[in-house]
Amino acid sequence: MDLLLTFPEYLLIVEVKYISSQSATLSEFPHQLTRLSYEGLKKTFPDPILQVKQQRKQLSVWLRANGFPSMPIEYLVVMANPSCEVIIAANYRDQGRVIRAPFLEYKMSEFGRHHREERLGEEVLGRLDKVLLEGHRASFKTGIERYRVAFDEVKKGVHCPKCGVLAMERKHKNWVCRACGLRSNDAIIETLRDYYFMVGDTITNSQLRDFCCIETSKSATRIFNKLNLRSVGATKGRRYLLDSLLR
Ligand SMILES: [Zn+2]
Repeated sequence: MDLLLTFPEYLLIVEVKYISSQSATLSEFPHQLTRLSYEGLKKTFPDPILQVKQQRKQLSVWLRANGFPSMPIEYLVVMANPSCEVIIAANYRDQGRVIRAPFLEYKMSEFGRHHREERLGEEVLGRLDKVLLEGHRASFKTGIERYRVAFDEVKKGVHCPKCGVLAMERKHKNWVCRACGLRSNDAIIETLRDYYFMVGDTITNSQLRDFCCIETSKSATRIFNKLNLRSVGATKGRRYLLDSLLR
């Protein structure tokens, strides 16, 4: 994370990439960034958007573990070299989040219009800034081990892809956000991606029920079937592989 901006209504993670090459191509399947050098050589890297999304999750875990209220966390990747052509695949899901530097201000006012609810009072915001500055920033970079410690403190549930609140409820095979009313039939995918980064690359029926607050094993099974996940093992010990959800 290059930059973390804190506002009373939301937080914003900005990853700045300065790529000195002719072009940089971002693709979704698989998530990768391919650089074409001035000499015409190609080199491939992980997609930076995955990195910020992981940081976003880590930050929200960290907020909870440190007693801060849950906040919407926005994220952007800024492609900082104006002479490098950025090519984004048409099916790239986070198209609007890979931007040029001059667009940052516009995006911030857009986020500001979208997140109007003040969640952090001045005092808490000041405390957050202070704690972040005191070096805890490093702590949500250190990854999985740190994570696991905090895992038990993580609030369970499916978060809303629109407003970020952990308030999605299962209603008639759909997910409905208690906070903003969004209806979605695949909101759980984002939560399972978080699970992948936080806990591991497989999940059992009972882990799914626990993590996503699903009542019956029958409806958990329905969700697995619908997601078409590969599985290993049989009956109770069956583990479902989450890697296909990252693509
Ligand atoms: Zn919502």
